[in-house]
Amino acid sequence: MNLGVDDRGCLFDMKILMNKTITGVGMMRGEPGVRSFEVPMPEIKQPNEVLVRMKEVGLDGTDINMVRYNLQDVAEGKDRIILGHEGIGVVEAVGKKVKSLKAGDIVNVLVRRGCGECEPCLNNASDMCMTGRFIERGIHKLDGLLTQYIVDKEMYLVKVPPAVKKLAVFTEPLSIVEKGVEQIRIIQSRLPWYCPHDGHSLLDQDWGGCKVALVVGAGPLGLLAAALLRLSKAYTYVCDIVSEDHPKVKFVNDMEAKYIDVRDKTPEQIVDFCCTPSGILNIIFEASGAAATALELIPFMSRSSIYVMTGIPRENIQISLDAARLMRQIVRYNQVIVGSVNSNRSHFEMALADLEKINSSFGGMLDRMITRRVPLEDYLTAFTISDPNHIKTVVEIEPW
Ligand SMILES: [Zn+2]
Ligand SMILES: [Zn+2]
Repeated sequence: MNLGVDDRGCLFDMKILMNKTITGVGMMRGEPGVRSFEVPMPEIKQPNEVLVRMKEVGLDGTDINMVRYNLQDVAEGKDRIILGHEGIGVVEAVGKKVKSLKAGDIVNVLVRRGCGECEPCLNNASDMCMTGRFIERGIHKLDGLLTQYIVDKEMYLVKVPPAVKKLAVFTEPLSIVEKGVEQIRIIQSRLPWYCPHDGHSLLDQDWGGCKVALVVGAGPLGLLAAALLRLSKAYTYVCDIVSEDHPKVKFVNDMEAKYIDVRDKTPEQIVDFCCTPSGILNIIFEASGAAATALELIPFMSRSSIYVMTGIPRENIQISLDAARLMRQIVRYNQVIVGSVNSNRSHFEMALADLEKINSSFGGMLDRMITRRVPLEDYLTAFTISDPNHIKTVVEIEPW
């Protein structure tokens, strides 16, 4: 980067000033692989818009898989899409009608832009869009955050308390988990008498008390799900396909959850293992995208249990299940299997409120989950995962 100093003593990028272009990292229509391109410096054109200088962008399985499986989803009439949807930045300038934000504020960026037609989208819940005609930053027909500046509407930016700015690259993935857990709590409200303890009901902080949960997958999302479940006091198991000495397992142990290596176990054995204390596995939180394992667990769900799925597998996988047995069981056992995708502002706000709690409760867990920080110009490295102990990559657009 070619840096200079402006008349306020602030660093600025000479290339941006002279050429009015910035760097974006993403994919070209019809071309495999990730690459960088020069894009115009965005400008505030509407009074409700905000110019944001990007600081950090986290990468997740969606980003990696878009590149791996050549799944670029470019808007009609465009030839490229900038990737990245887990971002944090600093407000550089605001339009005249912007009320809640000012220059210097730290913000997370919401991912989805609603269809503008259905009631959920018109009520700030585009994560539950009924038409499917939404767009998503860095995923579906809208440029993402792997770039130096973005312009967005005030309504799509969520203010970050300065005290948690160094953790807030996790706000978006944690918001996904917050929504999943919210679904569990809503469904669980059908059993207000689950146990005799006052502090273990739906609205209580310790709502997970007396309940047993299994998280499938110990990737970043699975670890965040386990953290939220542990904060709620749920007795929590986490399963994955790594050995006990993998760093992921240390995270599981640090939150006093129990790790299960599923490689040598049948789905029945996995559930049996979890049922040890109570005989019931109340909650399964799927966060792996491992489709066969996810479905093969269904026949072993407990009575009145809730299974929330958040993974989005990309391959074609055929498995065979006994349909009659499955249907009989789901009906007789009052079971709920629910999908949960994306998140809305309310989940971002829940995540921002929980970041510090998670980090401090579990030994600086979020700090330690970032196993790699890569500058934007090293984007090829960022999209290549060769270290088997790797957990989370953060692309540093500009250091704090
Ligand atoms: Zn909609
Ligand atoms: Zn209880």
